[in-house]
Amino acid sequence: MPFKVIHERWKCIGCNACVAVSPEYWEMNEDGKSDIKGAVHKNVPEGVLEELEVAEPGTNKEAEESCPVSCIHVKKTEKN
Ligand code: SF4
Repeated sequence: MPFKVIHERWKCIGCNACVAVSPEYWEMNEDGKSDIKGAVHKNVPEGVLEELEVAEPGTNKEAEESCPVSCIHVKKTEKN
């Protein structure tokens, strides 16, 4: 997959903006933070990092732009 969506979950303040603009990829969790649907969860020193590989960024770009704490990142992977 040529793109990766990354969520630095520990920074999330649960504002719901990503879910509002990208409900096909994002959902709110009962702990008050958002999740990328179907993401891989990695434990890093800061907390939980979520990653999802996608063919196209789609509405995740809007989610990235709408996040007030900049904890969503859409990156092109090295391959392709
Ligand atoms: S827009 Fe950012 S801060 Fe708001 S719920 Fe989504 S990831 Fe969390």
